[in-house]
Amino acid sequence: MSTRFSGSFTQQEPIPEEGIEAAMAVLRSGRLHRYNTATDELAETALLEQEFAALVGAKYCLAVASGGYAMATALRAVGVKPGDRVLTNAFTLAPVPGAIAAVGAVPVFVGVTPQLVIDLEDLAAKTGQAEVLLLSHMRGHLADMEALMAICDSAGVTVIEDCAHTMGASWKAVPSGTQGRVGCYSCQSYKHVNSGEGGLFVTDDAQVAARAVILSGSYMLYERHLAAPPAEAFDAVRYETPNISGRMDNLRAAILRPQLRNLASQCARWNERYFAIEAGLRDTPGLTVIERPAEESFVGSSIQFLLEGWETEAVEAVLTGCLKRGVELKWFGGAEPVGFTSRYDSWRYVQAPRMPQSDAVLAGIVDMRVPLTFSLEDCALISGIIKAEVGAVYQEVQGS
Ligand SMILES: *Cc1c(COP(=O)(O)O)cnc(C)c1O
Repeated sequence: MSTRFSGSFTQQEPIPEEGIEAAMAVLRSGRLHRYNTATDELAETALLEQEFAALVGAKYCLAVASGGYAMATALRAVGVKPGDRVLTNAFTLAPVPGAIAAVGAVPVFVGVTPQLVIDLEDLAAKTGQAEVLLLSHMRGHLADMEALMAICDSAGVTVIEDCAHTMGASWKAVPSGTQGRVGCYSCQSYKHVNSGEGGLFVTDDAQVAARAVILSGSYMLYERHLAAPPAEAFDAVRYETPNISGRMDNLRAAILRPQLRNLASQCARWNERYFAIEAGLRDTPGLTVIERPAEESFVGSSIQFLLEGWETEAVEAVLTGCLKRGVELKWFGGAEPVGFTSRYDSWRYVQAPRMPQSDAVLAGIVDMRVPLTFSLEDCALISGIIKAEVGAVYQEVQGS
């Protein structure tokens, strides 16, 4: 069988026409800076914040330059100081430990389970080491959020959620990003809304919100926000908080607003594709599908599976075989980080003890993007290719 997939794993859909028109209007106005508004004009950025707060049911929202900036701002806003230790996932993307390092704090890694979520037992064992958890819902997998919040609440650990892959997702119908003190989202091209770069920050805590607004660089113009706390919240904060500029601009906000209006239907389209691929991968000998809990409503913008206990050469044979047929898989078990596959032991600025149980999980994680430009036929073709390549290598290994 020599079928080949010829599509692109990095091609997203175009910006909706409505967004292009809104962007052109901003460009024609010349008022791209969020605080550069005509009399009585509401900035696109302020409107975006108001709409996103309403969408997830948060009191306050701030739009910023990136997801990584939102996380570093959250850490500063909840009071993390240089030298503090911050708990975070061993399985996450580089900007997460990077945000901790950006504030001079030190990541303490918590393990990953075969369901690809943070290991709650390991978390409970480590809550004594830090006052803050930067929780990454890596690749959109949500841990049992009730159990996690119970552990952190009883230990007095403040939770900041990294929702780069969970915008539009929820646990028991509670939107992702609203259970911790702060929720941070990314609007980078490979996430669920696309402004090239961008980030969103939500919280119900007026002081944290006020600090974040000042941190982002509000030049004391915070009263022009529509989703910021009332002016009194800024009384002390305005003097005590440094300006570390990282605002969003009106151009990005303009293209994001129509995308937010379509978010639910886009998430449904992602899941159609996810389930089509998952169905195609089921019952492949040697391959473990990640079973998703009923409480989790996720967004299938990427899919993961496990090749548990496989030798390096065998995994590499699968990756090579798939790539030859046009299917780009990423593997978190390689000795060297490639592209987006770094993991806790790749970040050598952190002195992290080895985590054998997590190493065993990471060694088997294979990951694939699912852009919305894939048709359902593409998804069937892709899963067929993976199934055949995994099957062939598995049979060979079993036979030898
Ligand atoms: C993309 C991503 C981020 C934030 O990314 P930015 O590029 O800074 O917007 C954070 N966490 C995870 C898991 C991500 O994938």
